[in-house]
Amino acid sequence: MNDKAKTRAGECPHAYGCALFPILRASSAMEYWTQAYCTGDYGRCARFETLSKGLAVPPNLLPNGKKI
Ligand code: SF4
Repeated sequence: MNDKAKTRAGECPHAYGCALFPILRASSAMEYWTQAYCTGDYGRCARFETLSKGLAVPPNLLPNGKKI
């Protein structure tokens, strides 16, 4: 099954291939990130952009392009 097959309507197409998504979704403290990116405007997510190019996503890359 590919990533898109499990993705809900309005959700980032890479949600289930993104290592960060389950972490963000599991915590109410991270709700900003999921709403602003994963279930919102995922097209502006740095991880989405990288995944869409078929490149490996650095594990410490945040949706806003900053690294932790
Ligand atoms: S962090 Fe980015 S790539 Fe990952 S699920 Fe959210 S919007 Fe998609």
